[in-house]
Amino acid sequence: MTKRLRTIARKTILTLAGVAAFAGALELEARPVMAEELAKNLFGAEKLPAATEPQSFGFYSKGCFTGGVAIPLDGDTWTVMRPSRNRRWGHPAMIALLEKFSRDAEADGWPGLLLGDISQPRGGPMLTGHASHQIGLDADIWLTPKPRRDLTIAERENKSATLMVDPKTHRVYDRLWTAQHTQLLKRAASYPEVERILVNPGIKKKLCDTVTGDRGWLRKIRPFWGHDYHFHVRIGCQPGSHGCKEQAATAAGDGCDKSLAWWFTEEPWRPNKNPDAPKARDIMTMANLPKECRLVLQAPGPVSAEAATYYGNGRPPVAVAASPEPAPAPSGTIGEAPLTPVTANAFAPTPKIGIPLPRPRPGN
Ligand SMILES: [Zn+2]
Repeated sequence: MTKRLRTIARKTILTLAGVAAFAGALELEARPVMAEELAKNLFGAEKLPAATEPQSFGFYSKGCFTGGVAIPLDGDTWTVMRPSRNRRWGHPAMIALLEKFSRDAEADGWPGLLLGDISQPRGGPMLTGHASHQIGLDADIWLTPKPRRDLTIAERENKSATLMVDPKTHRVYDRLWTAQHTQLLKRAASYPEVERILVNPGIKKKLCDTVTGDRGWLRKIRPFWGHDYHFHVRIGCQPGSHGCKEQAATAAGDGCDKSLAWWFTEEPWRPNKNPDAPKARDIMTMANLPKECRLVLQAPGPVSAEAATYYGNGRPPVAVAASPEPAPAPSGTIGEAPLTPVTANAFAPTPKIGIPLPRPRPGN
């Protein structure tokens, strides 16, 4: 980088105008954001997170986030499935929780987690699947335990999860459900930051019918369509995310009541009257998302996915900005909290396995 550019970079303020100047000065890819452009195309194209303080903007099903970190493709107690989707990104609190959960689950007798989708690097709507998972606070975990051996890349892409619920009766298959499944969900519900766990109604019913002793945790277990191969863990808005919209609190009680009985009527399973109606994620434009999400798309990324991968080293993980220069501080705001590039540091270790890393953003 030339001295002039270094000076520009140092002086750059990350306001909306500042971001444009910053991108221009560093010859980052020019990316005009048009109001009518589909948000899923823009967020779906992002390979790396916004390397700034972690913040979630908007709601689980309508938002985006900065400061995302990736969970490593492999840990001793987890494996990331479908790695080609590049959805192993989350708010650092989510990633730290998943790593802890995987260790706790193993100690409980579950042989490790198979992780499904978390979020795209900057969140936002996805090209396929999921209405939510947009602000880095949702994660899908398979109801199939991790095999003892390492999975090949092809297996991670193609291996099927186990269907746990009979689609006709909406009851779990008793030959498949184990006490370890129950313990796994109980462990997930034990973390204070976990607000909801979405499961198929059949699974909720199984828990309602069999859990004895402490049943308080059942309040967090919420019946929902799907979720018969995996369960979905949702954590609350994290400190510092002033633009994050909280979900309404779950009702008091264990939920083993009329609200559950409704799922075992005909009504929830009626064919969709309008099956061709577009899904929200397929029509959502940038204008539908919080205004900060435009800035999130423009913010600088880290040098590589590896540089923003969290290895559970005991310190809060942060995405590492690509700029080799110390970031100016303070450097403008997104919403109410600062959007400050986090300076490079030495915590990023070398890759443990020969997985090809996404290439850095153009111009870096
Ligand atoms: Zn999910």
